[in-house]
Amino acid sequence: CGIVGYVGERNSLDVLMGGLRRLEYRGYDSAGVAIVDDDGVIETAKRAGKLQVLADDLAATPLHEGGTGIGHTRWATHGGPTDRNAHPHLGDEGRLALIHNGIIENFAELKDELLAEGFTFESETDTEVAAVLLGREYRRIGELTEAFRATVSRLEGAFTLLAVHRNQPGVVVGARRNSPLVIGLGDGENFLGSDVAAFVEYTKRAVAIGQDQIVTITAEGVTVTDFDGESVEVEPFDVAWDA
Ligand code: GLU
Repeated sequence: CGIVGYVGERNSLDVLMGGLRRLEYRGYDSAGVAIVDDDGVIETAKRAGKLQVLADDLAATPLHEGGTGIGHTRWATHGGPTDRNAHPHLGDEGRLALIHNGIIENFAELKDELLAEGFTFESETDTEVAAVLLGREYRRIGELTEAFRATVSRLEGAFTLLAVHRNQPGVVVGARRNSPLVIGLGDGENFLGSDVAAFVEYTKRAVAIGQDQIVTITAEGVTVTDFDGESVEVEPFDVAWDA
């Protein structure tokens, strides 16, 4: 339901938790984060319940600090609101983590295809199918943005997706169809959000991602392409926000 992504010098967990708090007004039943550090260590934490349940867990059992991360609040549509069904979901044998807003309408047929190939699933969500599919495409292609392009071409429905892969620390890739995604442009850091509220504390410069587009952010820049791989020129705007 709420999505935040970050790459930069800060400890990404602080940015993610702050952004998720600002998105709480939308309602949710679970929350989770994935953090990648410079060495490519990827760690996730996720819990059903309020953001505070996750925050208490993270205080008791801290994750590695890392400058790259994604955070999610879930409004369950497929699979009950449990710890296991909370996002992120993993692919490529735990090397990548993915979060999703929306509904993947053709998840059942994709799941059958992946099960027949020997892939296994931990959750009852439609989302995990996208994570496992992205993992399969990453193994084949070896690059996250192109693996995304191959993955989204198989998905039907509504989705904002963000993912990180341990082999590409310093990169967050996102894609959207029928569901919103906005870039926050920083100085030596960049943000993604389902809503500008996710990052408005840090920057008021934003770019709205268009329908059927993919965005790749690093600390230094952002690249937007369409699902066919054509580059898209970004048009930044200033967020009007009194805070
Ligand atoms: N359909 C996904 C799920 O149930 C995502 C729901 C959402 O937008 O939070 O896990």
